[in-house]
Amino acid sequence: MIEKRNNRPNVWDRVDDRMQAAMHSFSQGYLDFLNRAKTEREAIEYIQQKAQQYGFTSLEAQNSIKPGDKLFVNQKGKLMALIIVGQNPLDGFNLVVSHVDTPRLDLKPRPLYEADNLALFKTHYYGGIKKYQWPAIPLALHGVVVKKSGERITVCIGEKEDDAVLAITDLLPHLAKDQMEKKMNEGIKGEDLNIVVGSYPLPDLKEDAFKQHILNLLQQQYGIEEEDFASAELQAVPAFKAREVGLDRSMIGAYGQDDRVSAYTSLEAVLALKQPVRTVICLFADKEEIGSTGNTGLQSLALENIAAELLTKSGIKDYYQVRKTLARSFALSADVNAAVDPSFPDVFEKMNCSYLSAGVVLTKYTGSRGKAEANDANPEFVASIRRLFDEAGVVWQVGELGKVDIGGGGTVAQYLACYGMEVVDCGVAVLSMHSPFEIVSKADIYMAYQAYRVFMEKMS
Ligand code: MN
Ligand code: MN
Repeated sequence: MIEKRNNRPNVWDRVDDRMQAAMHSFSQGYLDFLNRAKTEREAIEYIQQKAQQYGFTSLEAQNSIKPGDKLFVNQKGKLMALIIVGQNPLDGFNLVVSHVDTPRLDLKPRPLYEADNLALFKTHYYGGIKKYQWPAIPLALHGVVVKKSGERITVCIGEKEDDAVLAITDLLPHLAKDQMEKKMNEGIKGEDLNIVVGSYPLPDLKEDAFKQHILNLLQQQYGIEEEDFASAELQAVPAFKAREVGLDRSMIGAYGQDDRVSAYTSLEAVLALKQPVRTVICLFADKEEIGSTGNTGLQSLALENIAAELLTKSGIKDYYQVRKTLARSFALSADVNAAVDPSFPDVFEKMNCSYLSAGVVLTKYTGSRGKAEANDANPEFVASIRRLFDEAGVVWQVGELGKVDIGGGGTVAQYLACYGMEVVDCGVAVLSMHSPFEIVSKADIYMAYQAYRVFMEKMS
């Protein structure tokens, strides 16, 4: 058996045919999830439905809780906690925390206009995108519109086989001499990301004929009026489906795998748990891509409130115990890292970056400019994770995000660490991260699932 490739173990070398078959079949469920859940709301809806099938009930509806209870908390349809209550709630939690928001293009509050025989939507991008990647691909529109009456209208256009899709245009090469000489981040600007939504004028209308036709269609099909965009969350996302990648079908390519690969694998892990000794919380957060802000992001008191409710309903009404329990907790910040890309070797320090199919990645610290804004995990905790994974046969690797001072990034780890709990980043390596078509290895997906499962069950 080959021990190492590129200084790393390779999962495919390490597992037998039966396990390889399990990896391929596990990825089929993942493909389905990716196609159903392209927004945070859709992901939370999927997760809640699946959890209810497995016997999870709303924490809010319970007056008291006891060991073994399976509970969920749904915060505004965009953040969810799945909880399995352990033997002693004061012992601290085993937390696995992923995020379900993804870089995308949000419609502005007044999006619709017409110009040059076209009707278009104006957008404001969300999260870190390379803007040039978004023109000239099919786009779908997902989200909700809330009418003044409070009625909520769900929108999903461009996903069904016979749906029409939307698109942003790009300049033809023949006329792009000036554009092509610009810096890449100036070739397509934020205000250029306008989505073409129509080109048919209402007959007999002299002004706004293209725009008015779209408004009529929205009114007829959804009951939406122009002013309703002001209270809407409509997101343009790639319209194509998740696919297997490679002649060997060893990879998955899709939009939104940062961080739905962690969301799906941690969901499957918590659903597979029997009766953990410590209380397990599988948390799916929103707003990570814009700094974990807002009341569904992890800079909010969401986790603290959930902990307080859990303890109160376990009969512990002492707030100091909430703090103590959080400080006694262990967490995996389940998020992706960048895989070494052979086409861009200059940005990777190959001894310390992560590789595709080399197992789940432990990232001791993220950050930039000398680890600024990193949670630098304590070596005592990382050692216990190493022991846990090795004993369970979880193939893992270390991973830094690129070379020193080449860029950087952060995760939710720092917003968990603030409670005093031990936390380390742990997720899969991704190629083309934050692009409309991100690539991961089926072997790493399965190792992430196993890593989260053994952590939830056995970390103590
Ligand atoms: Mn992420
Ligand atoms: Mn990200």
